[in-house]
Amino acid sequence: MRTPIMAGNWKMNCDNDEAWELASAIADEKGDVTGCEVVICPPATALVVVQAVLEGTNIGLGAQNIFWEEKGAYTGELSGPMLLSCGCQYVIIGHSERRGRFGAVADDFTPELQRVFGDTDASVNRKIKAALSYDLTPIVCVGELLSERQQGQTDEVVSGQVKAALAGVEADDAESIILAYEPVWAIGTGEVCDAEEANRVIGVIRATLAEITGEEIAEEIRILYGGSVKPANVAGLMAQPEIDGGLVGGASLQAESFCELIDAAAVSK
Ligand code: PEP
Repeated sequence: MRTPIMAGNWKMNCDNDEAWELASAIADEKGDVTGCEVVICPPATALVVVQAVLEGTNIGLGAQNIFWEEKGAYTGELSGPMLLSCGCQYVIIGHSERRGRFGAVADDFTPELQRVFGDTDASVNRKIKAALSYDLTPIVCVGELLSERQQGQTDEVVSGQVKAALAGVEADDAESIILAYEPVWAIGTGEVCDAEEANRVIGVIRATLAEITGEEIAEEIRILYGGSVKPANVAGLMAQPEIDGGLVGGASLQAESFCELIDAAAVSK
């Protein structure tokens, strides 16, 4: 059985006082959570503050990005050892906002937008390998643009992203990876993907994984859904057999709503 996960992606929100307050409110309510793996991914500036709050709880800490080199002249980047020294166990890799696949302007997707943060299938692959080499658990995001969905390319896009992400990754290492299906048009838009459709696409992702790792390992890998997950829709999503949890932006910024999502995930399987 795959243990459900609820991961909060705080994106570029919360200064250190706000991060302390939000993490403390979540830890007070859910610090001894069971039945669900809970992960908080604050901005890099707040990792140390949130690490201190989470110490001694069952809640894990994740970063929102990683660079593959260990140290050196890479201004603004963070390495695996640096994330480990902040207490991280997880790292989000290949979020659409870093790949340049912006939800709100998905149809304006251009090479210029891609260059804002610059993640590509190739850099995502390097980041995953770096994270694994430091025993950080990657939470790898894949998902189609609205225009790709409208053209019937969803399955092809997500399976292509999964294959590129895992190229050259040993099957045994792949087992520890967490994937997140995040249709770009559903991120931060309030427009959630229909639960049965999300379940179907995650099935496509699992079938792609099976080609890479074999079926047994693919069955063990957790695949989350992300895109406007809220207390009002979480039960329907978590009831789907292929959906192993959520990667949540907006609703993870309020302790009350994030705790409701954790509760729903914890009783779902
Ligand atoms: C995300 O940040 O990955 C996300 C899915 O955001 P939201 O829940 O706000 O759509």
